[in-house]
Amino acid sequence: MSFDPDLMQRYEGRGPRYTSYPTALQFSNTFDATAYREMVRASNEEPIPRDLSVYVHLPFCEQACWYCACHRSITRRPDRGEAYLDHLAREIELQSALFDRDRTLRQLHLGGGTPTFHDVDALAGMLDALSAGFRFAERGEREFSVEIDPRSVSAQDVAGLADIGFDRMSMGIQDFDPKVQEAVNRIQPVPMVAEQVEAARRAGVESLSFDLIYGLPYQTVAGFRRTLEQVVELGPDRLSIYAYAHLPERFPIQGLMNADALPDSALRLELLSTAVEELERAGYEHIGMDHFARPGDPLVAARDRGQLQRNFQGYSTHAECDLIGLGASAIGKVGDSFSQNIANIRDWQAEVAAGQLPIARGLALSADDRIRQQVIQSIMCNGTVNVDAVTRHHHLDFWSYFAAAAPGLRRMADDGLLEFHNDGFTVSRKGRYLLRNVAMLFDAYNGPEQNQQRFSRVI
Ligand code: SF4
Repeated sequence: MSFDPDLMQRYEGRGPRYTSYPTALQFSNTFDATAYREMVRASNEEPIPRDLSVYVHLPFCEQACWYCACHRSITRRPDRGEAYLDHLAREIELQSALFDRDRTLRQLHLGGGTPTFHDVDALAGMLDALSAGFRFAERGEREFSVEIDPRSVSAQDVAGLADIGFDRMSMGIQDFDPKVQEAVNRIQPVPMVAEQVEAARRAGVESLSFDLIYGLPYQTVAGFRRTLEQVVELGPDRLSIYAYAHLPERFPIQGLMNADALPDSALRLELLSTAVEELERAGYEHIGMDHFARPGDPLVAARDRGQLQRNFQGYSTHAECDLIGLGASAIGKVGDSFSQNIANIRDWQAEVAAGQLPIARGLALSADDRIRQQVIQSIMCNGTVNVDAVTRHHHLDFWSYFAAAAPGLRRMADDGLLEFHNDGFTVSRKGRYLLRNVAMLFDAYNGPEQNQQRFSRVI
């Protein structure tokens, strides 16, 4: 696809990825453990309580990737990992005591950091602690996923993880170009990844997902195309292509990279469109902003039914679950509220050891937040907004309520990025690259100053 550079320059800027609305920037410490308990109590009392999803944050990594923007801690000391898992078991007890036992745990995701910093036996112990506190859905009716780092697992570990119940695995690939890997301090040659992929397939892992990043130092269109070819050969079921966010003021480790070698906006856009082109040619379907999946994948079916969800891990097929965040910095979402745990590992451990829920901050959504959340979710997941549906659901006059968004939408329509129709508006194929810009028009907290400092570039 060809891009008009002037057009793209006009829309250049920074903005949230909208894995939540409102974003974590709006969380405050006025939302505390007492507020969280109240939200859980109310969720237990709903006529049909939602199923549960659990996110476990495992923050340790042996070595720092220089593009990293995660809550993580670099160490090679296994005792730190063991102490962390001990505290996690305690947090599981504290959290599971709050939720009615007949609620089903349907989704589990281990993220990090590097979950595979811990060995398979240690992770099996963590699963035991979870199953003691929560009622697991049967195999086949649940999704248990783990992020694996090809540099820290053997084929045997991959088989072991499948054996203890992880039927979904994701791997950070980023780029296979050796020059790029060296520039970001993450060396993982294709054969190393291929070995883990084979092991996962042999072990019957249901879904394998790769993460790629564009916008890294020394990336070129030719190099990234080669990476994409190698990725297609390895045949993951799903892919996510993330834009690298260079924010060294917030993430000092990023300052170790050569900033002069970072691609400019035009090249970033070319890298992204190369990914779309190559992956579509290979038969993958483009989902939402930055995900791809094989045609038979449940994500594609959810998109076609208009039931795609966006959450902290990206896009998901699951109807809304209440999300419990476990571990330092983990974010949860129960009912109409978000909560985030203490990020500092020592402080998180101290709070848990004292028998307290380690919640640092959060947010209870206002009526206005809920309306905007629905619109932004619809843009990010379906690329369309049905004005009647929002009007009926929230009893408001859409175009009066969102009068401030109208000029921006009209400008985007004039630029061919979206089309108005009787039911509302739909983002065009070209506009898909700028979904965040469309969503930002409906964000009550959106301000250029805040975006400049806190968010990644939209292109
Ligand atoms: S493995 Fe992930 S969390 Fe750890 S340093 Fe690399 S990018 Fe960051």
